[in-house]
Amino acid sequence: MTAPISAPPTTLKKLAKLGIHSRFDLVLHLPLRYEDETHLTQIRDARAGTPVVVEGTITDAQVQWKPRKQLIATLEDDTGQLQLRFLHFYPNHIKQLSKGARIRALGEIRHGFHGDELVHPKVREVVDGTPLADHLTPVYPALQGITQPMLRRLVSQSLDDLILADTLPDALRDSLHLLPFRDAIMTLHRPPPSLSVTQLSDGALPAWQRLKFDELLAQQLSMRLAYRARRAHNAPVLTGTGTLTRAFLAQLPFSLTRAQARVMAEISHDLAESHPMHRLLQGDVGSGKTVVAALAALTAIEAGYQAALMAPTEILAEQHHLKLAAWLEPLGVHVTWLTGSLKKSHKQAAIADIAAGVTRLAVGTHALFQDDVAFERLGLAIIDEQHRFGVGQRLALTDKGAAPHQLTMSATPIPRTLAMSYYADLDVSVIDELPPGRTPITTKLISTARRGEVVGAIRAEIAQGRQAYWVCPLIEESETLELQNAVATFEALQQTLPELRVGLVHGRMKADDKAAMMAAFQANEVQLLVATTVIEVGVDVPNATLMVIEHAERMGLAQLHQLRGRVGRGAHASRCVLLFEEPLSELAKARLKVIYQHTDGFEISRQDLLIRGPGEFLGARQSGAPLLRFADPEQDDALLEAAKDWAPRLLSDYPEYAERHLARWLSGREQFLKA
Ligand code: ADP
Ligand code: MG
Repeated sequence: MTAPISAPPTTLKKLAKLGIHSRFDLVLHLPLRYEDETHLTQIRDARAGTPVVVEGTITDAQVQWKPRKQLIATLEDDTGQLQLRFLHFYPNHIKQLSKGARIRALGEIRHGFHGDELVHPKVREVVDGTPLADHLTPVYPALQGITQPMLRRLVSQSLDDLILADTLPDALRDSLHLLPFRDAIMTLHRPPPSLSVTQLSDGALPAWQRLKFDELLAQQLSMRLAYRARRAHNAPVLTGTGTLTRAFLAQLPFSLTRAQARVMAEISHDLAESHPMHRLLQGDVGSGKTVVAALAALTAIEAGYQAALMAPTEILAEQHHLKLAAWLEPLGVHVTWLTGSLKKSHKQAAIADIAAGVTRLAVGTHALFQDDVAFERLGLAIIDEQHRFGVGQRLALTDKGAAPHQLTMSATPIPRTLAMSYYADLDVSVIDELPPGRTPITTKLISTARRGEVVGAIRAEIAQGRQAYWVCPLIEESETLELQNAVATFEALQQTLPELRVGLVHGRMKADDKAAMMAAFQANEVQLLVATTVIEVGVDVPNATLMVIEHAERMGLAQLHQLRGRVGRGAHASRCVLLFEEPLSELAKARLKVIYQHTDGFEISRQDLLIRGPGEFLGARQSGAPLLRFADPEQDDALLEAAKDWAPRLLSDYPEYAERHLARWLSGREQFLKA
């Protein structure tokens, strides 16, 4: 019982672009704003900045050529006159606006050079007594070729023909004081005369609240169902024996923080279940996620399975490999390294080891999950910095053998509201505590003009036995330029600081050279490391205490936070100098202020969300999650909480309502409606 839209195929195609596939989609195609054509304003009373409808007679109309081609008409009523100005017009405009014509014009008054004017007003010819609109006129999201009158007509027909039954049980509606669905929809499409444009644009209007709640509830319901569906799959039960993990903990020079121990318990619990874990491990930069990853891997290995750890860049994968091999090889765990840049013979050997099960832990880039790699018995896949992988790359992993458990790790915290909405189907563990003994990082904002002082600071820092990073700017348009710039910076710093051992690392280097350079820095053979943003994630050199970031204004907040997290990892006080070039855009100023004021990743992330909206965070999200159109998790967090509370109750106590609600909001929308 689907109700297709009756319109020509070309129109249907365009409607589809607007996300409108069915008649019910038209009902949910809500106005962007409203125009008030319910009453006339006398020209004398029309005030600048507010939209008005005026009516009068054209007393003059002409096409002018200076300063550019435009049509200017004078409209007069009993109280005054104003100008109508058109920079783009058609011959029928000229005809319509001829002298003596009776015109109604809708627009926003501006004080122009020649007095009051309406620029590009909506105009139509009227006769005396042509009725005004009896409610505010909705303005819908539209596209080229789909006009407002067309949309209004289509929406209106759907409103008349469809039964807009409620999908929320009374108990729910009553407890949250929500309007019936039909009332809410009608209010928004055909506002009653009592509501002003301002009231209708306010998200707190009960009609909007109802629709936002519906949308958030649909999201919660679908996330819960996705979660359940995933749990229906089989996964190996990984019950650790404790032999390896105990030995590992015993050889660590430190003990786990409480937070690390807690998240590890959460992970072990999941690994011992017979359905695949999908857990996100969040922990600020430097919180010690790698140790947790090692423990999780060991648990899988103890249970007789293999583990894999995938990192988004070679340099990060290499760092992980060095660290994990040093930790695990002494325990008799064979660690294999695999990236795309390996020599063919080495690659083949690695692949053979992985397939034969000689490899217990494989570490590498996404090369680990290419077609030619088959694990003997993969029990756990660990993905570091998941937000930097594309969707396809992460999906490839689930195809390897019977659904392995998955642990993704991220230092980019998801703000609470997003975690509750778009990420509601993931289990999340949070390391909310840094290892003890860290000294806070001091952040300084310095204009590039004072670069000389910064060089002095490097000299002093290194004289104390410490090390420093110098991060070259991100140049988005050109990787070649970025590289040239890094090389030039490296040479200049080498010249200015001849007494220091300066090194350079960038993304285009051969993997071996990169690894050699990082090892040299680790060993303090290189004291000052010039780098492109490749060091953004994962590098861990506790003796490095000064970080200089050039053109910090070009970088995003998450990136700055990650970079800054490369220092402050040891016992010595650390500094991060953000060099910026003036003038700064408003956005850049806002970002730098946030990074200057905050060191807590969660707070930075929250601020980032406020500045930029959720897009960036959702890049990582698989496309299955529908975007919210009406609700804003941050602003509507009370509704979000309510939706989250009600979703499980709806599924258990009112399954038929839940089903109808999802059908309405997600797909096959019309099957429960009688058209
Ligand atoms: P991230 O969470 O950013 O990946 P790492 O795992 O690289 O952090 O850990 C940062 C540093 O802290 C490393 O040098 C690591 O050895 C150290 N570390 C991790 N856990 C602890 C702990 N419980 N106590 C002391 N140092 C720790
Ligand atoms: Mg890390």
